Amino acid sequence: MLLFQDFQPLALVATTPTGAQRLQPLCQTSGASLWVPESLNIEQAQNYTGSLKDHIASLWHHHRAFVFCLATGAVVRLIAPLLEDKSRDPAVVVVDEQGKFVISLCSGHQGKAEQLARMIALQLGATPVLTGASAGLGLPGVDILGVPFGWQRGEGDWTGVSAAVARGERVEVMQEAGSTLWQHHLPQGHPFQFGFPKYSATESEIIESQEQPQNPKSHPPLPPLMKGGSQNPNLMPKAKIWISPTQRRFSPESDFPEVQWHPRVLWVGIGCERGTSRALIETAIEQVCQQHHLAESAIAGIATIDIKADEVGLIEVCRERNWPLCIFPADILRGVNVPNPSAVVDKEVGTPSVAEAAAIFAAQSPALLVPKQIFRSPRQNPQGAVTVAIAQSEREYTGRTGQLLLVGTGPGQLDQITPAAQTAISRADVVIGYSLYIDLIAPLLRPGQIVEALPITQERQRAERAIELAQWGLTVAVVSSGDCGIYGMAGLVLEELRAKGWDGKVPGVQVFPGITALQSAASRVGAPLMHDFCAISLSDLLTPWEMIEKRLIAAAQADFVTALYNPRSRTRTEQIATARAIFLKYRKPMTPVALVRSAYRQDEQITLTTLEKLLDAPIDMLTTVLIGNESTGTHGDWMITPRGYLGFESESTGRNSPKSDRQPDG
Ligand code: SAH
Repeated sequence: MLLFQDFQPLALVATTPTGAQRLQPLCQTSGASLWVPESLNIEQAQNYTGSLKDHIASLWHHHRAFVFCLATGAVVRLIAPLLEDKSRDPAVVVVDEQGKFVISLCSGHQGKAEQLARMIALQLGATPVLTGASAGLGLPGVDILGVPFGWQRGEGDWTGVSAAVARGERVEVMQEAGSTLWQHHLPQGHPFQFGFPKYSATESEIIESQEQPQNPKSHPPLPPLMKGGSQNPNLMPKAKIWISPTQRRFSPESDFPEVQWHPRVLWVGIGCERGTSRALIETAIEQVCQQHHLAESAIAGIATIDIKADEVGLIEVCRERNWPLCIFPADILRGVNVPNPSAVVDKEVGTPSVAEAAAIFAAQSPALLVPKQIFRSPRQNPQGAVTVAIAQSEREYTGRTGQLLLVGTGPGQLDQITPAAQTAISRADVVIGYSLYIDLIAPLLRPGQIVEALPITQERQRAERAIELAQWGLTVAVVSSGDCGIYGMAGLVLEELRAKGWDGKVPGVQVFPGITALQSAASRVGAPLMHDFCAISLSDLLTPWEMIEKRLIAAAQADFVTALYNPRSRTRTEQIATARAIFLKYRKPMTPVALVRSAYRQDEQITLTTLEKLLDAPIDMLTTVLIGNESTGTHGDWMITPRGYLGFESESTGRNSPKSDRQPDG
């Protein structure tokens, strides 16, 4: 369910039995409701009465996304009268009756229809049809690139800048605030040209940029980022993206399109008299922002003293604007160094500063962007006064609840990854994993995704990085080969979360199982795991060797078919020989053994041998060793462990038939 959270409520619509069947599997995975006409009797579906047109109209404003299994033309006619604006319309996706194609029809970027189409296509094994220009160029859309970080779209010519990207023109990016992670994961030959590094614009620059947006002199000189420099007119930027808390006004007549993203980096510290109205607080914030050319949408939240936690006006403003209200006790605030302390305030509430100290503390910033200003109500009733100060944080507030998707990617081939795991990878803002596995899943990655491949030895760093990003609000997929919960990253991530005092809910966690090495190895040689089996890793990096030896003895004694993971590395060569010696004490030298290396990968290698000859064949870290039990046999190239259907040998009674009263195995 976590995967489709961004699209809730989501409506699926079909008018034929085939269409309903096609969409039905999505109900469970996406948490959507399926609507069909009354005449169809479909389990799990809800019926609509009257015309579909009226029904869609009644759902339209309450749904974030629609998936139709209908002719595209019919869908276009249905939704045409309802469409308003791409910043508000829900995502509209169309699936053909055969389930071959998933079309992103409307609100591809801001409504995330492209993303939804990708995810549904992965669920259905279909091809996503994305006609947006940036998808075709492998780029994140200009109007969605800040979404993972919770940035807000500001004023500007969004269509103009997107069109410049589509035409392959250079686009200058002036990023003064917010995460630059997105910059580091762009494809080769991307159109963005990065201007000055983060800094705060001065007032004269803001005014210049408002009046002469096309004048390159209004900004510090650009570093010659691209070969050829800026002398070549084809390399001159034709559009501009600002990423900043500053509110810029662009001239509507300009033929040089500009847009602005506002990362939420402003913490507004507030102190107020008891009973100050919401209107006064709002006006004060608005005026301070205007005076200092700050965008209100760059506000992260409100910070104040704990005794204001029940201040009605403040609570109302925060609820209305979706701002968090951060409260701090007086003894924290009094420890903050502020420019304008007040003895009066100190006497009243036990700290010489509320607004300034709370802003600085919430922003974790050494200084204020705007020192405190006091606003008084012009009216006698209700009275009130409010003090406002603003500080800017280094890292933006995303306003999103992060998620950790712990994903098993199977042995290697894409078609061995479950559709759910594929969807999770496609959904994630960030994908973290060992570089070899990231290469294997490369076709699943989408434009704009942040992909962090780390060397094999850095599991803890990977887990900590994933948690840090998820706590910040991003959706992070941590990929492991095989199953992520079998010698994979799932356990480590959950352990680290627990150690950090995780409440079990935030960030959200979902584990996506994968085909583990013992299964993929077994499938390549037949059915060696048909009876009770166990897995033992021979790596003693994290487990004392005595413990491993104890388990090897127990498994050998108990006649478990045994899968050995991590059997040998370049430096760790003795363990497999010891394991063999232990098994030889309890099993016949002729016991079949399969060595499966790189199952389902291009360099796959399979050797069927025996316990006795086990060491004659090459074994390395990419190999899984399967040791048969007493009754495992071979047949040509196949390794088979009997389940007992054809009877079994018993020492005392000889050949027996299977018991007829037992449950058949599934
Ligand atoms: N999480 C993984 C296991 C990681 S431990 C899983 O569930 O499969 C790494 C060990 O897994 C390797 O040393 C090897 O023994 C085994 N392994 C992983 N991928 C394999 C593959 N494609 N073929 C054979 N063995 C594999």
